[in-house]
Amino acid sequence: MDNNEKETTKKAVRRFSLRWQLALGMASGFFVIFIVFALLLSGLIKHHYGVLPNEVIFWLWVIIAFGGLAIFIFALILTKVILRPVRLIETTIEAFEDDPMTEVRASEVGANDEFSDLTRILNRTIDRLQALISAQQQFVSDVSHELRTPVTIVKGHMELLNRWGKDDPEVLEDSIKSSLAEVQRMETLINEMLNLTRAEQIPVDNVKEITDVGGTMNRVYDNFKMIHPDFSFTLDDDLSTKARVKIRQDHMEQILIILADNAVKYSLDRHEIHFALSQTANRVEIGVQDFGEGLTPEDAKRVFDRFYRVDKARSRAKGGTGLGLSIAQRLVEAYGGTIALESAEGSGSIFTVYLPLYVEEKNESN
Ligand code: ADP
Repeated sequence: MDNNEKETTKKAVRRFSLRWQLALGMASGFFVIFIVFALLLSGLIKHHYGVLPNEVIFWLWVIIAFGGLAIFIFALILTKVILRPVRLIETTIEAFEDDPMTEVRASEVGANDEFSDLTRILNRTIDRLQALISAQQQFVSDVSHELRTPVTIVKGHMELLNRWGKDDPEVLEDSIKSSLAEVQRMETLINEMLNLTRAEQIPVDNVKEITDVGGTMNRVYDNFKMIHPDFSFTLDDDLSTKARVKIRQDHMEQILIILADNAVKYSLDRHEIHFALSQTANRVEIGVQDFGEGLTPEDAKRVFDRFYRVDKARSRAKGGTGLGLSIAQRLVEAYGGTIALESAEGSGSIFTVYLPLYVEEKNESN
């Protein structure tokens, strides 16, 4: 069925529109009531005078005919006004169907009634859908951009080998090594993108796991001490009781590892990392501090953006994808927490994660 055919069918279906139905309904109502009234009246006249003058019959018919017509016209005008929001809603939906990024919105007319509620809901839904479409388009564009470099490098090496590298063991080894490194990068990137998507879709209400933040922090601290012997790590544990948070343990660990890993990656000469744990009445605070390159206020605002790297080439050389902090932030927020950053260029950074303590929830359910 082509578009024209579709339009014709739509119009044919719409021919006996709600407006006509309402107008005809009102006019028929009038006819019924008036005919009953006319019959009663003529009955009364006949009863009193014995005959029904022709003049009365004539005027009754005139009133029925013109009254019906007048009511019908009045009903058409009235229903046009009443159904105007429906027409606007229909136009908006049609515009959205034609172009999902349309600027058209149903304007709220008249009273604060069911139609204006419907209009508001429709406009809000279109705004949300458009935000999702834009985010998806942005994601696809970011991902293609990120994958383009490794793919171009691997392709370059393959072409080099194809032309003259096959017989030269040095070129062969070099190209294979570089290609493998790029393929490894692509693998990391794909895994991190999956992590990011998963972090965005955590069904938090279904998470039953309660994690001891202090225990997890201690484990990460021990592991980092072991894998980075050239660094000095300290852990300031001010927790008076066990800080229990409703979060999956692997997610808690992932957040801490991302922050600790960055602290190591972006340290300069001073190889010192401080971890800190404290708690208030209803939340736990986890700090990760380094004394490395730090960030300018402009960069600090953007580091949580997907794929954002201050120095793309340097971060890339260190195996960075620009996704670590986005994943950490989405995970923290999925569990009802926040993540903050204090940083000064050249002096270092402190990332602080705030997560709600589980204790209160337990009290509530008791
Ligand atoms: P990456 O994989 O590049 O490290 P992240 O999302 O973890 O991606 O970080 C984004 C950018 O933020 C990094 O490229 C780096 O420029 C900056 N950054 C992250 N952590 C720190 C830190 N502790 N000190 C200085 N800069 C940092």
